Amino acid sequence: MSKETATHKTYKYRLEPTPEQAQTLENILWQCHTLYNIALEQRKTWWQRGQNVGATYPQQKAELPDLKAAFPDLASVHSQVLQDVLLRLEMAFKRFFARVKAGEKPGYPRFQGKGRYHSFTYPQYGNGAVIDGGLLSLSKIGRVRIRVHRPWEGTPKTVTISKEADGWYCCLSCEGVPIHPLPKTGEVTGIDVGLKVFYVTAQNEICDNPRYFRKAEKALRRKQRKLARCQRGSKRRQKVKQQVARHYQKVKRQRADFHHKEALKLLRQYDTIYLEDLQVANLMRNHHLAKSINDAGWAQFRHILEYKAACAGKRVMAIPPHYTSQVCSRCGAYVQKSLSVRTHICTECGLVLDRDHNGAINVLQVGLEQDRREQAKTTLACSDSSGGGTAFRG
Ligand SMILES: [Zn+2]
Repeated sequence: MSKETATHKTYKYRLEPTPEQAQTLENILWQCHTLYNIALEQRKTWWQRGQNVGATYPQQKAELPDLKAAFPDLASVHSQVLQDVLLRLEMAFKRFFARVKAGEKPGYPRFQGKGRYHSFTYPQYGNGAVIDGGLLSLSKIGRVRIRVHRPWEGTPKTVTISKEADGWYCCLSCEGVPIHPLPKTGEVTGIDVGLKVFYVTAQNEICDNPRYFRKAEKALRRKQRKLARCQRGSKRRQKVKQQVARHYQKVKRQRADFHHKEALKLLRQYDTIYLEDLQVANLMRNHHLAKSINDAGWAQFRHILEYKAACAGKRVMAIPPHYTSQVCSRCGAYVQKSLSVRTHICTECGLVLDRDHNGAINVLQVGLEQDRREQAKTTLACSDSSGGGTAFRG
């Protein structure tokens, strides 16, 4: 199916394993985490010996039967699930080398502790994992009850089983999910991350950070301090740790819920939304705490917005972040201001505007300009090579 009529989507369903099944799931998680660490160790030794300098996924996959012979417990896990563990390690290394190449200082892929390995994947739906009615049949585990609270669309591709603070879940990723377009409105906007608010649009619509967020985050910090005071290895610590995990999960869900609602609101209203291509990793180093917290959520919001836009037949376009908050949106003069300055006051044309609103207008203007340039390029390419260029989707 073409990109315009279909997309991919992941559906998350709750699992209700019996106590015995839950024990089996735990065991598989443990075996996967063990294999991950063994494979990481293998890469390290290969590297140190100078042989197989670039140990790769195919090489490790070929070694899997030998590993199974050496670690018989691995036989209790479906072979494709084990292959996926090796693939995850491969991806961790790919990310590591990409960041080295980009001149960053990444952390070397690390050994995963028991608490850090939360999920395993059947990479091929129908091969070891299949949903039949209210049951999820898993090879080497059995038939686990699953709550399919809404049906999936498209073709299921992979099945990931994950353990969260309140139980087990199944993530079903599907391809060829039909798009349900939202009606076109002919409206465009730019949005900017606010310091105090979540975002501001070029039309000066303000989206506030929900209050319960701050409350929940405070409570979370309090619980974490409590955890730090507990004695290591004690029963009480175990209990508080569980509380923190549940609370953290609740905050995470509330935030995701908020992001989904806000994204839908914007997509209903606008056909194209421009936003800054912020490097969140850089922003996280920002010393302004309130802003970095906001930015952390911003990356997730952008992801959700882009994803929902793809499903709704709308556009989210990133623009390079160049002084959007420093430039005057009316005359283009450069007005430098620190993070503490809340109002844009132009010394050239006298424009007085809220800092974030001024930024959002700039985002919109840069976005529209970017689109015009693209369109001009395409028109040129089309007239040069009679129809060789691709049509611009506006
Ligand atoms: Zn000005």
